[in-house]
Amino acid sequence: VPELPEVEHIVRGLRPLLVGRTVVGAAVLWPRTVACPDADRFPAQIAGRRVQSVGRRGKHIVIGLDAGCLLIHLKMSGRLRWTSPDEPAGPHTRLLLDLDDGHRLRFDDPRKFGRVYLVQDPSQVTGALGPEPLAGGFTLPDLRGLLARRKGRLKSLLLNQYFLAGVGNIYADEVLFHARLHPLRRANSLNPEEQERLFEAIRDVLERAIVGHGTTLDDQGYVDAEGESGRYQEQIAVYGRTGKPCRCCDTPVVRTVIGQRSAHYCPKCQPEVAEGQYVSS
Ligand SMILES: [Zn+2]
Repeated sequence: VPELPEVEHIVRGLRPLLVGRTVVGAAVLWPRTVACPDADRFPAQIAGRRVQSVGRRGKHIVIGLDAGCLLIHLKMSGRLRWTSPDEPAGPHTRLLLDLDDGHRLRFDDPRKFGRVYLVQDPSQVTGALGPEPLAGGFTLPDLRGLLARRKGRLKSLLLNQYFLAGVGNIYADEVLFHARLHPLRRANSLNPEEQERLFEAIRDVLERAIVGHGTTLDDQGYVDAEGESGRYQEQIAVYGRTGKPCRCCDTPVVRTVIGQRSAHYCPKCQPEVAEGQYVSS
C-alpha cells in the first residue's frame, strides 16, 4: 500500500500537470471505484470543475477543485497514470478523467480496493486524522504529548492513522530501526532522549523516502504517475529483511507479529528494554 512518501511523490508529479486544468469529461468503468457520489452521477458532477491544488492528507491524494475536492485513496494496487487520450484503457482501468489540455488522468486498479470521492471537505472521508508528521507545525513537544497519553506498542501506534497520518507497515519498521526502539515498546515508556530519537527518525526516514521516490518492493509494486518505480528500497534497513544481517551490526533481522501486522527489527540495535531502565511487561 502506498504510504506517505509514495503518495507525496505522486502528488508532486501531478501538481504541475493538473493545477489550472479543467475536467471536461469522465468515464466510470468500475462503478464501485467511485464511492461518492453515485457513480452514474459522478461524470456530470466533475465535468467543468477546475483544479486549484494537488495535495495530500495522510495516504490520500487531495485534488482541490473550484468547488469541493476529489479525494483518491490508492489502497492495495491503485495507480494514477497521466496519458494521452489515444492511449487505450487497460484491462484494470476503473476511471478516466479528461482534461482541457487533451491529457487524460487514468485510474488503474487490478485489485479494486482503491476509492475516489467527490466531496466538499477531505475530512468527510478521512475523519479526524492525526497530525502530518512532516508539517512545519508538528514539533517534538507535540510528539511528546501524543506519546505520554498512550500505552500502546510503538509499532501499532505508528500504524494508527488517528495517532499520526501517513505511516504504514514499511516506514513504521524503518522509523523504529533508525530510532533504535523495539517495536513492542509502550509509547509512554520512552524517556525524553528516546522521544527525540523517534521524532528525528520519523522526519528523516519519510523525507529520505520522498527524495528516493518511495519504495517499490516487487514487480506488482507502486509506480508513480509516469510509470516509474521508487528507489528507496535500496536503503530499506529491516522491512522484509527477515534473517538478513542488520546493516549496522550484522545480527540477523527478526520478524514478529504485533496486532496481526508483521514487524521487522534488529534485536541488538533495538533492545526490548529501555536503556538504563527496567520495564515490566
Ligand atoms: Zn543491528
